[in-house]
Amino acid sequence: MPTTHIWIKNPLDIFTANDVDASGGIVVEHGIITEILKAGQEPSRPCTQVFDAREHVVLPGLINTHHHFYQTLTRAWGPVVNQPLFPWLKTLYPVWARLTPEKLALASKVALAELLLSGCSTAADHHYLFPGGLENAIDIQVDVVRELGMRAMLTRGSMSLGEADGGLPPQQTVQQGQVILEDSQRLIKEYHERGDGAQVQIALAPCSPFSVTQEIMRESAQLAEQMDVRLHTHLAETLDEEEFCLQRFGLRTVDYLDSVGWLSSRTWLAHGIHFNPDEIARLGQAGTGICHCPSSNMRLASGICPTVDLEAAGAPIGLGVDGSASNDASNMILEARQALYIQRLRFGAEAITPERALGWATKGSAKLIGRSDIGEIAVGKQADLAFFKLDELRFSGSHDPISAMLLCGSDRADRMMIGGQWRVIDGQIEGLDVAQLIADHRQAAKELIAG
Ligand SMILES: [Zn+2]
Repeated sequence: MPTTHIWIKNPLDIFTANDVDASGGIVVEHGIITEILKAGQEPSRPCTQVFDAREHVVLPGLINTHHHFYQTLTRAWGPVVNQPLFPWLKTLYPVWARLTPEKLALASKVALAELLLSGCSTAADHHYLFPGGLENAIDIQVDVVRELGMRAMLTRGSMSLGEADGGLPPQQTVQQGQVILEDSQRLIKEYHERGDGAQVQIALAPCSPFSVTQEIMRESAQLAEQMDVRLHTHLAETLDEEEFCLQRFGLRTVDYLDSVGWLSSRTWLAHGIHFNPDEIARLGQAGTGICHCPSSNMRLASGICPTVDLEAAGAPIGLGVDGSASNDASNMILEARQALYIQRLRFGAEAITPERALGWATKGSAKLIGRSDIGEIAVGKQADLAFFKLDELRFSGSHDPISAMLLCGSDRADRMMIGGQWRVIDGQIEGLDVAQLIADHRQAAKELIAG
């Protein structure tokens, strides 16, 4: 149902991701936030609809900046439950190589629906598997994003360095550089929307130092520059990866990144854990974004991202659920809770507040994917809003609503608005049969493992 002119009135509490006081609510017109009201204020002219938000905590729609939707098919799979990154990958690659268009569509829908119900309005995905028959993987994902009415940064991933050439992935999962670049160009031309309110955007995303050649890194950076799109990859996730870079390239990870033309503000990196002080300073100076993935980093025992040091150096920080076979949930609000706790272990309780963690999940994440129209509540921004209720048993006796969301463990949005449209009402996704989706997806997951 279109919401042409609506007053979201007097929220229980509201986190704007800036210092604007919005305690009287927000006015949304044609999908854009047009007025912010203080307590007691009324809209400058009467609205056609009023939504009474007295039971809701309102946040900017959360933004997930790293994920692999297809991996929802291999969640909590016995053989990899207790493995660290490299053996985890080597066990899973042959299973993932059997992915089909139907299975990818189901997996993407499950991941996006789960994200949406956790308060997420914009999601990035890093898809790097294009086995025979799945050449149109990103096209399939675009359809699912549009069907759910979310926003997405779909990254055209790639793997070009197979086992035969000293890489980690099996040969049947890698593609030729020429094929990767031509498809990247095609996808940008066909789907990449520019400017405020964009629904689908494309970025280029060679997978990791141990699965792509230096040539494809360099050529992707050139193409991204030429077509003005963003760059994404995994970096400095584990010490195994650092060791790989030293052995193969004679370089540490950030030197490697620099050597292929990626040390820039066009780039955002997943994980960013194993950096020395000099590398942190260089990343900050370049303005390279870091997507912190706390659950995945704990699940695979990879390490703790030095978020506060990176931020102090000038590198923007955002959040990602990563996974889904290394999390194994796709829940953005729970990820903010995980970030709060793991970062307190490293930087202390006073430095890491609930507001700081929520800031990473919203404004910080928006910066990573190069967007200034989402990630905060302010006049002129897109009306992407998450509404949470605090009426469950777990919140009983809590006092500060914003803190309660993370400390008591909010895990599900009651409502979601994206570009002024209601996409979730009373905890249900508009127009989606979730029971049927689960049944189809479970079947697909069984088939994929069975081979
Ligand atoms: Zn990842």
